[in-house]
Amino acid sequence: MSNQQYYSAKYIVENSKTIHKNSVLIINEGLVVDIISLETFSENKPKNFVEFGDVVISPGFTNAHSHVALNSVKGLGYGNASALYDVMWGIEPALDEEIVYKLSLLGMMDAISSGTTSINDHYFFAESVARACETIGIRGFIGHTIMTEYGPWTGEEQIGLAKSFNQNWLNSKTVHPVVAPHETSTVSPKVLKELNSYARENNLPTHIHLAQTQKEMDYIKTNYNTSPIKHAYNLEILNEHVIAAHCNVVEDGDLELLAESGAFPIFCPTTHGIGGKPMNTNYLSKLNVDWGIGTDCSGGNDDYDMLEEMRTALILNNSVAQDGFIKPKDIFRKASEENITRISGGIFSGTLSKNQKADFITILLNTPRMQPLHDVVNNIVMCASSREVNDVYVNGECILKDSKFQNIDEEIILEEGIKALNSLFTKTGFDKKILDGDFS
Ligand SMILES: [Zn+2]
Repeated sequence: MSNQQYYSAKYIVENSKTIHKNSVLIINEGLVVDIISLETFSENKPKNFVEFGDVVISPGFTNAHSHVALNSVKGLGYGNASALYDVMWGIEPALDEEIVYKLSLLGMMDAISSGTTSINDHYFFAESVARACETIGIRGFIGHTIMTEYGPWTGEEQIGLAKSFNQNWLNSKTVHPVVAPHETSTVSPKVLKELNSYARENNLPTHIHLAQTQKEMDYIKTNYNTSPIKHAYNLEILNEHVIAAHCNVVEDGDLELLAESGAFPIFCPTTHGIGGKPMNTNYLSKLNVDWGIGTDCSGGNDDYDMLEEMRTALILNNSVAQDGFIKPKDIFRKASEENITRISGGIFSGTLSKNQKADFITILLNTPRMQPLHDVVNNIVMCASSREVNDVYVNGECILKDSKFQNIDEEIILEEGIKALNSLFTKTGFDKKILDGDFS
């Protein structure tokens, strides 16, 4: 019992409905032991007692759809070029292990600073993304992107790499492997089915882009005479273990089939809003479908800030709601609890209840944004920014303390990240393209 750690705070959010005032969070071996009243403690505090003071301790957020290393094309997705096909795929053939590692750390710094303790990430060179997770300390549900056609990295070799990645990280404390076919128009039906069987046999979740662009819709219409969601449904690859990013380019009947399948659709509000095609969250809610929230990546959204994304999700949903308005607490529950519960298949709950993983953040209360404070969860969702996020813990380990990263040197990571970006831009000719105004 001597290894127990104690964290006192003005408020502790156990979950979206349960708030403890003037309390102490007790952690042992990376798990929550209990939350008890501060009054229980006499003047003689036990060792390992941290008085956070005027903060709220909250469960950290899970980003349900990210590509943390795809920060390379920041600011370039708003011209006439296609953000995915011209900008992202234009740069990705020049990636390598070290570049993805360095860019992943850059993206993870942004995510952690804004209160994210877990990412569900889909990218090439997943070994490098996972290695970056271990370096910086964030929890990662990580999938190695598999494409069989069109993309920058395709073929059997990638399937082999994805399978070996899954084996290599099975026993990690913070990296959790995920099967990650790219999308319906970039992975052949045969491989989509094979990967679905592989995921089920190995008890792994699947993370896929689904119905994300008009180009995907047109391709599936031309080749299979149906929509991407119906195509996936017909292939029997949709089920409750599937995390389906976007689901925003749809036709009649698609969302009903998605609901029937039990898949977990992910709303990426900034990407969807800027592209003019938000996922129909209101209709999905009417169909009793839980939906999650993710940031996606640059090209569509230029940061990994879940606090910003949570507010945007609420605004976009309610801006077109006729009756089903959602509330800040619903959004908090999605970002903290539902995202990780669904991605982990129920292994994690995203709460600070007994025996749950000690993945939590502290949010400063004495700031102009957070005062006055009448409702803790409402203020977290509607007021807090990365400036209020002060500490971040994953598995009970402190990875951000007083806004300072504990496991990395921020300046070195920034410097190395920018060097990696410059080499990527030189190799692909993007430096010249930017100067020529190709993306403006
Ligand atoms: Zn994506």
